Amino acid sequence: MRRLTSEPHMAGTEASHRVALWLLDRYRSFGFDAQIVSYTVWLPQPRIVQLEMTRPSRRVLATPEPPIPGDPQTFDKRAVMAFNAYSPSGEITAPVVYANYGMLADYRELARRGVQVTGKIVIARYGLGYRGIKAKLAEEHHAVGLILYSDPQDDGYAAGDVYPRGPWRPMGGIQRGAVQYTQIYPGDPLTPGVASTPGVKRLAPQDAADLPHIPTMPISAQDAAVLLAKLGGRTVPREWQGALPFTYHLGPGKATVHMKLVMDYRERPIYDVIAKLQGAEANQWILFGNHHDAWVFGAADPGSGTASMLEAARALGELARSGWKPRRTIVFCSWDGEEPGLLGSTEWVEQYRARLQGHALVYVNTDVGVTGPNFGASASPSLGELVRDAARQVSDPATGMSVYQAWQEHAASGRKEISGTARLAPEAKNANEAPVGNLGSGSDYSAFLDFAGIPSMDLGFTGDYGVYHSLYDDFLWMQRFGDPQFAYHAALARILGILALRLDAADILPFDYSAYAEEIARAVKQVNARIPGNSDAEASLKPVADASAELVNAASRASSALGSLANVKLDSAQEEQLNRGLAAVEQDFLNPEGLAGRPWYKHTIFAPGSYAGYAAEVLPGVAEALDSGDSSTLHQEAQALAAALRRASVRLGEIERMARQMTAASPPMQP
Ligand SMILES: [Zn+2]
Repeated sequence: MRRLTSEPHMAGTEASHRVALWLLDRYRSFGFDAQIVSYTVWLPQPRIVQLEMTRPSRRVLATPEPPIPGDPQTFDKRAVMAFNAYSPSGEITAPVVYANYGMLADYRELARRGVQVTGKIVIARYGLGYRGIKAKLAEEHHAVGLILYSDPQDDGYAAGDVYPRGPWRPMGGIQRGAVQYTQIYPGDPLTPGVASTPGVKRLAPQDAADLPHIPTMPISAQDAAVLLAKLGGRTVPREWQGALPFTYHLGPGKATVHMKLVMDYRERPIYDVIAKLQGAEANQWILFGNHHDAWVFGAADPGSGTASMLEAARALGELARSGWKPRRTIVFCSWDGEEPGLLGSTEWVEQYRARLQGHALVYVNTDVGVTGPNFGASASPSLGELVRDAARQVSDPATGMSVYQAWQEHAASGRKEISGTARLAPEAKNANEAPVGNLGSGSDYSAFLDFAGIPSMDLGFTGDYGVYHSLYDDFLWMQRFGDPQFAYHAALARILGILALRLDAADILPFDYSAYAEEIARAVKQVNARIPGNSDAEASLKPVADASAELVNAASRASSALGSLANVKLDSAQEEQLNRGLAAVEQDFLNPEGLAGRPWYKHTIFAPGSYAGYAAEVLPGVAEALDSGDSSTLHQEAQALAAALRRASVRLGEIERMARQMTAASPPMQP
């Protein structure tokens, strides 16, 4: 962790390359076959980020984050100024309107109250949704610029003591972050769907559908307070009031600001590190990953995940040296360029999609691995029980009970973390088990799951964390607040190690498609509850309901057939046949055409919401077509979804038939 956080190491800089080289060396020293895979991607760096209030009085508003006495790292001059990656350059002067979180419902509320957004600069607070959705909505509502700020209600003094006294965001702290429209496609903006390797055809930047068009920048609560206090217009709805000490107004009134952004866009290199521990079956891969690039020092994000992952890799390497032979090939991936737009993982998956679809069994992601003591996970529904089981094997450092029990108790308490990050506390579906969420967007599992159909999960320990994407997410913050004993880092390393060993040793992969089919059936029911009977929508969705019911049956029959194999000795060819089938069901859910309006997203069951924040949109094609009331898109998306569900049923039927034949052919059991 000390090395990983020793200097600011943003993607596209020499420091990020140095981290990659250090990781390469670590993996090699553990006995892994490691290499760097580099891509050249369209990547901005900020040159000028200025904001000034020009009326009713002059005030400079883009002040840098103040250093903290007692935390020497925060004095480091190499820290990049706060900016939003992939904002265009621009210079504008305009009146200002406050839009709460800047989400779709907020714009509807502004319209109801007669507030014009056209031609204005919108100021919106961080939270509730991915900032690229906020930028897209501001653009769609014809704002000319967007200012994002961190309201102390969300991750500052209203949540608790601020750094360095506590873990929350100080008034001068700023959240950096990308505004790339990753909800349309992530990765290199100029090479959607293909890897940005030398010689590949690149789009002109003006043709890249994931690049925003209005200047967007982040500021601190301190600076936002100066501006918000000067807004005129009506007072805001009660829920829009944040924690700054005055009554918020919608604007515009007399306040105008001048924004000037100069971004240096060019093709820059990024460096993924891919490390393999060769197994006996070279064609079955178990993948682990996290990014290594950080906005500044990146202790929690991403250092905590990387430190834990490295420790798991070191332990597996040690086992291999002491004579253990992995059955499958275990791959650790350290991605570059996650922060600006999931660049390194997306390009790699785009390059190796066919091979991954043939060989990868699962991808385990652990971004923001530790910010506190509360375990949380999101996963393909087939993997939920596997995650729970791994958590049962590791003890919780604070209480001595299992991580699973602590997780269950925390979930049952109903306490929710307030956090700017993408990992949300999922709703419990069953009061008796700890809840595993659905994968939305916001980290490197996206290309694996959404583009390639590889079963995926994302896990880590969360807690009070207000310094997300700021200068203050550094070693001292982690040591004082996040994980003072680094005990949760160790617990996370154990969970990763157990997942690796379980997945490696399993004769038959522990993938639970009954749970997956039930999850889909629940979602189908919810979608159906939104539509009136005897409507076109009902007719369009009928095949989906039928295919979903068929999938529940097929999954249940396959799982009972696989269950009857428990005492049958299979040869490795038989096991491989079954496992190949089990791993490929997730790919059956892909629609090669992709979702309407965003063809990069192939998965018919899960996608990040186009407008719905960080949360996963379940059955995204039909759900969003219902939202927009577009009946021909609804019909088309329902057809694609039903076809995907039927493909999965057919494959599960084949798995069932194979399993039954293998059971029938096996010699009778000895008493
Ligand atoms: Zn991260």
